[in-house]
Amino acid sequence: MGTKSLKIVSLFIFGISIFLMQPCIVLGALVTDVRFWSAPDRSRVVIDLTESVQYESSSQEGPPQFHLELKGAYLYTPKREVEVNDPFLAKISLIGLEKGRVKLVLHQKKPLNVNVFTLKPYEDKTYRLVIDLVDIAQEKKEIEERQKQKEIKVKGTKIVVIDPGHGGEDPGAIGPKKTKEKDIVLKVGEKVVHLLNQNKEIQAFLTRKGDYFIPLEERTKIAREYGADLFVSLHMDGSFNPQARGSSVYCLSLSGATDQAAKTLADKENLSNILGGAFSKPTDLSKDPNLNQILLDLRQNDTMRDSFQFAETLLKDIKAINSLKYPSYRQANFIVLKAPDIPSALVEMAYITNKEDERLLNGAEFQEKMAKTLSASIKKNFKP
Ligand SMILES: [Zn+2]
Repeated sequence: MGTKSLKIVSLFIFGISIFLMQPCIVLGALVTDVRFWSAPDRSRVVIDLTESVQYESSSQEGPPQFHLELKGAYLYTPKREVEVNDPFLAKISLIGLEKGRVKLVLHQKKPLNVNVFTLKPYEDKTYRLVIDLVDIAQEKKEIEERQKQKEIKVKGTKIVVIDPGHGGEDPGAIGPKKTKEKDIVLKVGEKVVHLLNQNKEIQAFLTRKGDYFIPLEERTKIAREYGADLFVSLHMDGSFNPQARGSSVYCLSLSGATDQAAKTLADKENLSNILGGAFSKPTDLSKDPNLNQILLDLRQNDTMRDSFQFAETLLKDIKAINSLKYPSYRQANFIVLKAPDIPSALVEMAYITNKEDERLLNGAEFQEKMAKTLSASIKKNFKP
């Protein structure tokens, strides 16, 4: 799992200097960076551009390649090629052509389905062109393997799905020393799953196993495919106030948020779909015709009550290892908590933007302590 970056920033600066010397030349969009991300069933290539561009794409067989031509785009080097260590992709080539055209060639290891979409600038992100290369057979296999867990489960066993927030294009909150939320939550998530799987009566799985992005709705879908009895989304808080500290726990709200702070946090976490680049437009669940039924189901069954109870247990246990931001759980409209039949909670483990907490979070000792606490709460949740 990993990223590869073809940094072209220096060329971008060179480009500006040319522009300043020859103001009559209109440069168009500059390709400033190309990244790639590996997921179990897909690879994603992201091109950063200074402006939006028109593009044309085509696929070829034998050897399988995906071609994309950007119009009105510039690359300040004739050609760049990078070999990638990825199950689906062998090489990424960028070729500068005449008349403001740039050609991207993705050298595939096998035939793949390709989705191309653009993302508008947001905060520090520029225009992005996203190319998802999906191995449909592998995607199907992943789903079937998850569904199989539900079928082969021994009676009395509980299935827990741990969701490390963010990933890939979406780093989540970033600490003063550049520690990324997506990396810490994955490390803690792996430890929680490992600890839970020491118990015969619990089977734990992760929604994401590496540094790649999964849309929020997809995370609850994964949990449902596993037939999860409990879903826990792991996050780190961030604030402009470097003094802010403390852990907090959240549940879904079917009406409004408990307070403005909870609403702001849910809005921020829900932005993940935009930052991480969900292929389909993030679903506005309030416009979903099925939602009323889902909400009704949620109200009628015990899912919400079980979520609240679990949130209380979490707070009680976390209090022993970290200060709490609020003495009780808060509620807001978190997309990732909307599985109608799975008790779910979201934990903001600590503030990554606090210098001391960032140092602690980077250490195995605190990660271990947090993981032990979370797994203990999860185990307690299933005790009659
Ligand atoms: Zn987060």
